[in-house]
Amino acid sequence: MTPAAELPAAAGTDTMGWPELEAAIRACEACGLCRTRRQAVPGTGSRTARVLVVGEAPGAEEDQRGEPFVGRAGELLDQMLLAVGLDRRRVYIANVLKCRPPENRNPTPDEVAACSPFLQRQIALLQPTVILALGSFAARALLGGEGKVGALRGGSHVYAGIPVVVSYHPAYLLRSPQDKLRAWEDLCHLQDRLAETTAAAEAAVALQPKIGAADR
Ligand code: SF4
Repeated sequence: MTPAAELPAAAGTDTMGWPELEAAIRACEACGLCRTRRQAVPGTGSRTARVLVVGEAPGAEEDQRGEPFVGRAGELLDQMLLAVGLDRRRVYIANVLKCRPPENRNPTPDEVAACSPFLQRQIALLQPTVILALGSFAARALLGGEGKVGALRGGSHVYAGIPVVVSYHPAYLLRSPQDKLRAWEDLCHLQDRLAETTAAAEAAVALQPKIGAADR
């Protein structure tokens, strides 16, 4: 699968602000999912968030409510985020695909290619400190390759200079609770990435007066 980073941006997407981007997603007919969706699901959360959570695609409840990660999987995501001091309103949450595949089937490569410019633009606008990729499809769309979560999690990954932490999708964890401990380890990894960036930013601020003084 072609990494999202290497796909050309859809016409005009690369200059859109948030309102135009959301309107374009809601009106999009670039793949066949526009014919079966109830509504497109652009994303939700803070547009100044340091953490971007990326999932696969809307499910039935998301398609109905127009919001990503609702229902039982959404509740579990909320619990996971709270466990590391984050809540849904302080992160931004989006999916690779903005429209629901019928019967929740896997996204096709063509659908991912058609929809990826929207996620690319969301990342460009948000400029998050860390991206949390939940599930294989999210990880592959951002990083390329065909890796599975079990092989990718715990590794050092980067999308456009932004650290990417890979973990299990909450819907998978509901079916496979034995992997919740591993998901917890991934969230600690996310917390570490955030702390490292904060420490680096504080060090840079602390250094500025000294550099200024040395120049005088
Ligand atoms: S899934 Fe993406 S590319 Fe396909 S119609 Fe929806 S918004 Fe457009």
